[in-house]
Amino acid sequence: MHSWAHHSLVVKDTPRNGRGVFITEALAKDALLMVFGGHVLTFEEEASLPERIRDVSIQIDRGLVLGIVKTEELSAADFVNHSCDPNTGIKGQISLVSIRDLHAGEEITFDYGTALYRVGGALPYALACNCGASLCRGKITHNDWRCPELQKKYQGYFPYYLQEEIQKLKSATPDSFVYVAPCELGKGVFAKKAIAQGEEFLVLEGEVISFEEVRKRGEAEGNPIQIGDDHYLDVVSPGVYLNHSCNPNTGIVRDHVLMALRDITAGEEVRIDYSTTMQENSWTMECRCGDQDCRGKITDFRLLPKAVRERYLARGVVQTFIRNPNSFEANSILHNRSESLRAVET
Ligand SMILES: [Zn+2]
Ligand SMILES: [Zn+2]
Repeated sequence: MHSWAHHSLVVKDTPRNGRGVFITEALAKDALLMVFGGHVLTFEEEASLPERIRDVSIQIDRGLVLGIVKTEELSAADFVNHSCDPNTGIKGQISLVSIRDLHAGEEITFDYGTALYRVGGALPYALACNCGASLCRGKITHNDWRCPELQKKYQGYFPYYLQEEIQKLKSATPDSFVYVAPCELGKGVFAKKAIAQGEEFLVLEGEVISFEEVRKRGEAEGNPIQIGDDHYLDVVSPGVYLNHSCNPNTGIVRDHVLMALRDITAGEEVRIDYSTTMQENSWTMECRCGDQDCRGKITDFRLLPKAVRERYLARGVVQTFIRNPNSFEANSILHNRSESLRAVET
């Protein structure tokens, strides 16, 4: 039950992360560097390991990791550090290969986010990152594989189960979860099938435009969704028909993905709270949502009652530019929008 490592790999101290694995000779892209071995463990078994060796496992299938169970089993494979801008990646489930040419003396790293996946009940994974790369994401989570930029960057270097999940994500059509139909407010977006709480089910797509352009297009100001101080997503169907509710069943995560805030039944109208996207200092609208908690008026997020703001913030359904005014994340959608991020099927 041992890992195999290329003969030119050595374990040495690193300036930043304790020990790391270094290569002593230059190698070309796609060179096989390691094949991981060990014990196949469930998440529960992994969680019961001594702390020192718990985190060295690598996830090899949806609910399984490959790890060691005794400190004496530690080998070079257990010292490969994470980087948000790594030089190696996964092939298959257990092979580590170079994803670019390597020069002699450099540390080999891979992006732990490319081998993390969690489903129902499994504890989420989140680890603060200070890998030092200029592209550092600041944290590593079990959802990193969902990011279109990472999918593109590591294409061909994800374990097979994540390649399958990414494929599912891409092939789900935007309207596989919803349809547009008349409702008391004109048209609305309805659930085609039951959607579970926490499920991400529609990516809002459209052109990114400025406030000036919103004005010029003479559209109802409620249609484009604000994604930055002066950036709006001019949402196309079906998202353009989303109505507001002061007590919505859906929120927007990552600035343009709809997520169910509670279980939604088939045929139920999907609604968001427009205020979670609004910071305009001007526009308000009378609310006719009909909910018993209706606030009567749709206003900027900062004008919501404190308890309501806190509830939305806790659920992660407030646009990034409102949550974190200095964040560059709000603009990531601008760079990403040509990517075909699709509805998420979990
Ligand atoms: Zn990092
Ligand atoms: Zn209302």
